Amino acid sequence: MSELFGIIGNPIAHSLSPLIQNEAYQLNGMNAYFQAFHVENEDLETAIAGMKAIGIKGFMVTVPFKAKVIPFLDEVDPIAEKKKAVNVVKFIDGKYVGYNFDGEAWLQALLEDMGLKSLSKETILILGAGGAAQSIYYALSQFENVHIDIANRTMEKAEELKKLGQTHRYTNIISLEDAERRQDQYDIIVQTTSIGMWPETNRSPMNITHLKKGAFVSDIIYNPAETKILKQARENGAQTQNGMKMLALQNALSIEMWTGQKVSYERMMESLEKTLS
Ligand code: NAP
Repeated sequence: MSELFGIIGNPIAHSLSPLIQNEAYQLNGMNAYFQAFHVENEDLETAIAGMKAIGIKGFMVTVPFKAKVIPFLDEVDPIAEKKKAVNVVKFIDGKYVGYNFDGEAWLQALLEDMGLKSLSKETILILGAGGAAQSIYYALSQFENVHIDIANRTMEKAEELKKLGQTHRYTNIISLEDAERRQDQYDIIVQTTSIGMWPETNRSPMNITHLKKGAFVSDIIYNPAETKILKQARENGAQTQNGMKMLALQNALSIEMWTGQKVSYERMMESLEKTLS
């Protein structure tokens, strides 16, 4: 019998995880199947119980359930607990255990594309303070000497986010306007808001006009492949990265967590690129 995995969200029809996961199972000769499940808010608890009853061995969690799913899991690992968000669940000894590693997936993608093993004293700007920014800030805050500015439309949310840091000696909260003015101070800018995502592709949280020489700009949006901010950054001479590698890595890491099998995230990225182009 096939092992069953899945993703819950609402909306979920747009998710590309079924495509890349099922392709990876096939390529690696795994007897498994991945299904997207559209779940209504009021049905979340019943849906989780149902997934356990029919033997789903692991599932990913996306908007709007990353926090809401926590009360219905049997255990949550300490990092996901701290972030108050779960993005992957694994069935272990009769229990559903929640984890969160989207920030680590983004960090791995960043380091690989920058050709670095670690960060040291970089000055970093995070645009946004939502769920994805939370995980990214948590992952970045493990580096003691990086300087992080967080800019968000709702500054109170950025203040909340700062409390999550592992070490946050060098974290400041600034406005989006200040971020735009000071853009030439940053070695790395990471765009985590939903602004610029398809279909609103002509929008951007800030105008890129005067980046620091050698700056690296990452946008975690993957549709479109080049958002307005990434296009401006590239035209200003920056090295850029979209969210595809982060998405592929999260899927590859989930498969490894659920089955112990390593799969190629590069192959997943090829599929994503083909599908989205
Ligand atoms: P979220 O929790 O809803 O946060 C949304 C963020 O966008 C907040 O900072 C919000 O600011 C800001 N924002 C939204 N509309 C805005 C507007 N009109 N003006 C200014 N700021 C605005 O969402 P999320 O889960 O963090 O996801 C954010 C984006 O990341 C989405 O596009 C998602 O697809 C993408 N993502 C990609 C990956 C990947 O694997 N590549 C993983 C996760 C997420 P306020 O706080 O002021 O509302």
